[in-house]
Amino acid sequence: MRDEVLNCDAPECEHVEKVGVITADMVDMPCPACGSNLLTSEDWVGWKAVSEIMAVVEKIAPDSDGGPKVSMRVGLHGKKTRIEIEQL
Ligand SMILES: [Zn+2]
Repeated sequence: MRDEVLNCDAPECEHVEKVGVITADMVDMPCPACGSNLLTSEDWVGWKAVSEIMAVVEKIAPDSDGGPKVSMRVGLHGKKTRIEIEQL
């Protein structure tokens, strides 16, 4: 099950918007705390690629039927994408 969030990248703002699933209509969504852009179109393009990787990870580690649980954190910062996968 997806539990996706948008992290605000603005300095000194640590707002995390829980969205469930990130979709294209969230591009240019303003941060409710500081008003900066939570998801630029560049972030969205990067996210779509990452989302495909996540779909593969979900197949390896489904969280139903008692399989191993996996936590995946994705950080998009301009052209740099950081992915952390942790087995719970
Ligand atoms: Zn913010």
